[in-house]
Amino acid sequence: MHICLDVDDTITYAPEFFVGLCRRFDGARITIVTFRSDEPETKAYLDGIGLRYDRVIVSTDSEHGRRESESPHEWKAALVNRLRPDIFFEDMPQVVSLIHPSILVFMPCDDFVREWISLRLDADATT
Ligand SMILES: [Mg+2]
Repeated sequence: MHICLDVDDTITYAPEFFVGLCRRFDGARITIVTFRSDEPETKAYLDGIGLRYDRVIVSTDSEHGRRESESPHEWKAALVNRLRPDIFFEDMPQVVSLIHPSILVFMPCDDFVREWISLRLDADATT
């Protein structure tokens, strides 16, 4: 199994859950995919909470980094679609909407996302 995890508002939303998840699926390959640009700082955060991972890909990655022509959302979605994990955890709806249907996606819902969903439902109810 291959699991891709976003960092901000995903792992940071529920760090104990994701630490436990990566321990529970100890045979799974764990790839961290993040808009962050600082790889050492990102690894220091992950190591600090004790999260097991195999690889970290930041937006400035020499091989998989974002091109100027790509929006951050397009970059991350295209990368995850190329990596073809079995499961992807991501909090940004703009990224989630671009993920290939064959990849299972789980979306953490922090206060911002809950507010966004609420506004969408209100808008749909008035049309
Ligand atoms: Mg995020």
